[in-house]
Amino acid sequence: MKEIVILGAGYAGLRALHYLQAAKGDFHITLVDRNDYHYEATDLHEVAAGTQPKEKITYPIRDVVKDSVTTFVQATVEKIDRESQKIELENGNEISYDYLVVSLGFRSESFGIPGVEENALEMVDVPSAEKVYQHIVSQMKDYAKTKKAADLKIVVCGAGFTGIELLGALSDKRAAFAKIAGVDQERIELFCVEAVTRLLPMFDEKLADYGITSLRNWGVKFLTGKPIKAIKPGIVVYQNDKDTGATRELLANTIIWTTGVSGSHVMDVSNFSQKRGRVMVKGNLTDPDYSNVYIVGDVSAVMNKENNRPYPTTAQIALRMGEYAAKNILANLNGEKMDEFTFKSLGSVASIGNTHAFGVVGNSSVKGFPASFLKKIIMDRSLFETGGVKEVLSKGRFDLYH
Ligand code: NAD
Repeated sequence: MKEIVILGAGYAGLRALHYLQAAKGDFHITLVDRNDYHYEATDLHEVAAGTQPKEKITYPIRDVVKDSVTTFVQATVEKIDRESQKIELENGNEISYDYLVVSLGFRSESFGIPGVEENALEMVDVPSAEKVYQHIVSQMKDYAKTKKAADLKIVVCGAGFTGIELLGALSDKRAAFAKIAGVDQERIELFCVEAVTRLLPMFDEKLADYGITSLRNWGVKFLTGKPIKAIKPGIVVYQNDKDTGATRELLANTIIWTTGVSGSHVMDVSNFSQKRGRVMVKGNLTDPDYSNVYIVGDVSAVMNKENNRPYPTTAQIALRMGEYAAKNILANLNGEKMDEFTFKSLGSVASIGNTHAFGVVGNSSVKGFPASFLKKIIMDRSLFETGGVKEVLSKGRFDLYH
């Protein structure tokens, strides 16, 4: 009997599990994750802003594990030894595999900027997202006692997809934060410091402008073309003048770091040929050096032959990669061959708060409330693709139960 090991129960890992469990064959699956729950990584900003509780973006991994074919191991992966086909776990145990699906996800990227790890909050998993919310609430409570203006200031570092969605959710919560602090809503200041001037380059300028202008109208202050040079306790240091290099400081007691992500550090520790934790995989999503190792999701870089650039990492491509890896393993077990992985994006939509969104679906631009509706459909679809009907009914965004 062949042993298939899946590392990570994110979008890619659970999608692979779903396909493998639905097939018949002489194999057993082991799924490894450090948590006993799956979380919707695209919704972390909602937990960070406090617009959703963690229960709404998580479900138990056991819900999707078929005990007859799969063993779930809750443990942290320390290292992958591809030569001896073994996984080393932090608890000292080892797991052997014939086929491996590496789907260990992302971590926050500091780009070596001083003080980021010590002085900024990251938003990479459920505990770190909850920490952001608890931190904001505690600053609001502090203000009620100390009246320090910096307690009312929140800075989001980086205006990528994550930063923009977080700013939207934070805007929705301004009134609630103001109530805790005992001030008018306008006193809660939301800033975004961003290195480049042309924001959201994945969208055309008009659409990107719509999103940014909406946030501006809700009171978000954008400092664009201002690369962050350091984070000190309660201070964002950014370059204010690109010719002289002169810097300025923005004082705020909540600083959230969303300037991009890299793949899991396990890729680095395990000596994969990787860049920022991402391995440039072959056309069938396998490791260039080991044909039984599939690398999918945020730890994987797969070339888009249309523009000769790797596809951006998104939940959508992670789901498709997980599905492809599973189908390819099954084909391999049956002595069949598969075509190379191809991906056609269905589009992407950024939410800005609960009732607004903007983006591209198919070839059309969408914005406003209809886009928000579409975004909820997209969220429910990814929930359905990893979790199934049960999770959509209990966690889906249209509150079918109520
Ligand atoms: P990103 O790389 O897309 O954006 C990071 C932003 O931070 C960029 O605008 C960059 O210019 C800025 N930045 C980098 N260094 C900086 C510095 N020193 N000072 C100031 N600004 C700086 O990262 P992300 O937003 O975390 O997204 C990661 C990936 O996940 C992307 O591929 C994104 O498309 C995807 N994502 C998709 C969705 C969705 O589809 N709904 C949601 C979230 C993330």
